[in-house]
Amino acid sequence: MTRTMQAAVVEQFGKPLALRELAIPTPGPGQILVKTEACGVCHTDLHAANGDWPVKPSLPFTPGHEGIGLVVALGAGVTAVKEGDRVGVPWLYSACGHCEYCLAAREPVCAEAQFGGYTKNGGFAEYIVADPNYVAHIPAGLAADAAAPLICAGITSYKGIKETQAKPGEWVVISGVGGLGHLGIQYAKAMGLHVCAVDVDDGKLAHAKRLGADATVNALHGDAVAEVVKATGGGAHGVLITAPSLAAFKQGVGMTRKFGTCVLVGLPPGEFPTPLFDVVANCITIRGSFVGNRRDMAEALAFAADGKVKADFELQPLSAINDVFKRLAHGQVPSRVVLDFSHR
Ligand code: NAD
Ligand code: ZN
Ligand code: ZN
Repeated sequence: MTRTMQAAVVEQFGKPLALRELAIPTPGPGQILVKTEACGVCHTDLHAANGDWPVKPSLPFTPGHEGIGLVVALGAGVTAVKEGDRVGVPWLYSACGHCEYCLAAREPVCAEAQFGGYTKNGGFAEYIVADPNYVAHIPAGLAADAAAPLICAGITSYKGIKETQAKPGEWVVISGVGGLGHLGIQYAKAMGLHVCAVDVDDGKLAHAKRLGADATVNALHGDAVAEVVKATGGGAHGVLITAPSLAAFKQGVGMTRKFGTCVLVGLPPGEFPTPLFDVVANCITIRGSFVGNRRDMAEALAFAADGKVKADFELQPLSAINDVFKRLAHGQVPSRVVLDFSHR
């Protein structure tokens, strides 16, 4: 008798996910099987299910790249983890380990990288097959649901702030106070930075204040760029754009101080106009940032284990996924939804 598991599957782009009973996968040589305890829902999962990006996942697939669980089976030859370890199965599912990028710890851009919940089935399922060399090791004392948002939203916002190269005492803008941004504010404060939070929702901005933001600007009303320039005394040294909205990108460049860095991590489909003269004459750096490497993951988790960063989340069952996606698409998820598998 084959044992089965529940999974939420994308069968067609732009259509509701289907709840299916699938066979529990068997880990092959060098793989592990993780029994899911919790999985965060990232806006990337929505882009994946809509087929938003130029390189699309092949159908059908199971999204989810914030899955946390216990290792319950080891394929042949696995030594990196043992049964009972609590791990996370992240976006960077695996990489080749020996190309120029892997050797430089820039493995997210490895040409052979696989992506959890995109090119590999992910955590919207009761079990996940994972590569033990790339899983996140969850520190003792961090619960599965609290850890889930950290392994994508946490690492990405933390790494993005590092990529701004802003120094303690300087200003960063965190544009978009959702899953990534609400953690980004906390990382930035813990790193000694002044934070100006930008969003289009007053409730999210009030939350940003509670999380420690020194200033907030609503990008829907008035001249958001001028307000940020005023609040930061000439523009932010670093700008992190997490908003899944093209309008935020041009604004973000305008919010960047002379010689500052604007880091792009939000991934709405499309292109945005770049004010070339301003970028050149103000010596601004515009830089993309894509999750982070395994060291960044350990650092991002350590902030939470030390109590300096805490994900805000709302628990929902897997069966609520289509409703969660609808709310996420309309900016109606306060911080992060985490799918809870603990009752099964
Ligand atoms: P989310 O939906 O939880 O949060 C987005 C936030 O942006 C919301 O608070 C929303 O109100 C706000 N927003 C919308 N329009 C805005 C605007 N014009 N200006 C300012 N704020 C605005 O999404 P999330 O899970 O935090 O993901 C955000 C984006 O980051 C997505 O596009 C996702 O695919 C991308 N992402 C990228 C990486 C990476 O490695 N680069 C990793 C994870 C997620
Ligand atoms: Zn993500
Ligand atoms: Zn590689």
